[in-house]
Amino acid sequence: MTEFSMDLNDDQKQLQDWVHGFAANVMRPAASEWDEREETPWPIIQEAANIGIYSPDFIFSTFGDPTGLSMVVALEELAWGDAGLCMAIVGTSLAVAGIAANGTPEQAMEWIPQCYGTPDNLKLAAFGVSEPDAGSDVSALRTRAIYDAATDEWVLNGTKTWISNGGIANLHVIVASVDPELKGRGQASFIIPEGTKGIRQGQKFKKMGIRASHTAEVILEDCRIPGSCLLGGKEKLDERLARVREGKKSSGQAAMATFEATRPSVGAQAIGIARAAYEYSLDYAKERKQFGRAIIENQAIAFKLANMKTNIDASRLLVWRAAWMAATKKPFLNGEGSMSKLFAGETAVRVTEDAIQILGGYGYVRDYPVERWHRDSKIYTIFEGTSEIQQLVIARAISGIRIE
Ligand SMILES: Cc1cc2nc3c(=O)[nH]c(=O)nc-3n(C[C@H](O)[C@H](O)[C@H](O)COP(=O)(O)OP(=O)(O)OC[C@H]3O[C@@H](n4cnc5c(N)ncnc54)[C@H](O)[C@@H]3O)c2cc1C
Repeated sequence: MTEFSMDLNDDQKQLQDWVHGFAANVMRPAASEWDEREETPWPIIQEAANIGIYSPDFIFSTFGDPTGLSMVVALEELAWGDAGLCMAIVGTSLAVAGIAANGTPEQAMEWIPQCYGTPDNLKLAAFGVSEPDAGSDVSALRTRAIYDAATDEWVLNGTKTWISNGGIANLHVIVASVDPELKGRGQASFIIPEGTKGIRQGQKFKKMGIRASHTAEVILEDCRIPGSCLLGGKEKLDERLARVREGKKSSGQAAMATFEATRPSVGAQAIGIARAAYEYSLDYAKERKQFGRAIIENQAIAFKLANMKTNIDASRLLVWRAAWMAATKKPFLNGEGSMSKLFAGETAVRVTEDAIQILGGYGYVRDYPVERWHRDSKIYTIFEGTSEIQQLVIARAISGIRIE
C-alpha cells in the first residue's frame, strides 16, 4: 500500500519542467503577435512537433500515466505560456479524445497518429459536435449520417459550428445522428479522412480571446466515407441502437463520452491562465508604488492576491482529483469532472479580472499581457460545456433528480 502523497513523482516533475521551458521560451515571446494575427501559428506548432510536444507519443505517454496527473500538469504549463497558442497545439487532441473514447483499439492505432502527422509533414485534427441550433443541447444535432449498404459507405450532411481547427484540419471527427428519433442515443462519431470530398470550411470566426486558435464552421454536403470510418464499428452501433429501441440502458452519447474525459484537461488550461495573471500581478503589486508605498501594502490589494492564490490552488486540487479519478476509473458520482472545469473556468475569469484591477490602467492596455489573459479566460466558462451545464451535471449527480 503506497502512502498518500500530493507530490508529483520524478517523471511528472521532469515533464512539468520541460513543458514549462517550452511555454516560457517559445510561447510567451510569441503570444501577443499571434493574438493580433488571429491565424493558426504554424511555426509554434512546428516547434512543438520538433521537440515532441505535438505528437502522438506525447498524448500516449501523458494519457498513459496511471495517476492521471501528467496530462493536466502539462496543460497547465502550456496555457501558462499562452492559452491561444495552447489551444492551437492541443486542438487536435479533442479529435484524439473522440477517437479514444468511441473507437476500437485498432481504429485508435490507425487514426491517432494521422491526427498529428510527423514533424516533416504536420497534420491537424478537429472534433465537430456543436451546431448552430445544438450547442449545450447536444441531443438536438441535425447532422445526419445515412448508411449506404450498396457501397458500404456513410453519407454525412449538415453544418457544424465553432469547430477548433474546423475546415483547416486534415482529419475531422464528426458526431452525427444516425437515428434522429433516438436523439442523443441515436448518435455516432465518424472519421472524415484527409482528402474526402464534401467537407469544407464555412465562416471563420473573429473571437474575443484564444485568437491564435482557428475556430470555424464545417459544412458537410453528401460527404461519403468508408464504412470503416464509423468509430466503434457498425455491429456495435446496431447492437447499441437495438438496445435503446427496446428501452434498455445503453452506454450513452458519443459526444458526452468525449467531454467527460476532457473536462479536467480543460480545467487545467484555465488554471494556467489564472496562474500567469496571478504571478504577474503579485510581482507588479510589490513594485508599483502609490502614496509612497508598494500597492501590495494595502490590504485591498494583498487580500485580492490572497484570494486569487487560494482559488487557483483549490482549482488545481479539483482538477487533479478529477484527472486521478478518470485515470483510475472511479466514476464521477458527484459530477467531479464538471466540478473541476466549472471551478477552474470561473476562477480564471475572476483572477484575470482582479489582475487587471491590480494593474490599474496598465492592466487595460495591450502593452501588458493581462488584458489578453482576461479575454482568453472567458472561453473556459463556455466551451466543452458552459458553467451552467456543468452545474446541471453536478446538480443531477448529487440529487439523482432530473433538474431542468
Ligand atoms: C472558441 C470556441 C471553440 C469551440 N470549439 C469547439 C470544438 O472544437 N468542437 C465543438 O464541437 N464545439 C466547440 N465549441 C462550441 C462550444 O462547445 C459551445 O459554444 C458551447 O457548448 C455552448 O453552446 P452554444 O454556444 O450554442 O450556447 P447555448 O447552448 O445556446 O447556451 C447559451 C446560454 O444558455 C445557457 N443554457 C443552455 N441550456 C441551459 C440549461 N439547460 N440550463 C441552464 N442554462 C442553459 C448556457 O449555459 C449559456 O449561458 C467551441 C466554442 C467556441 C466559442
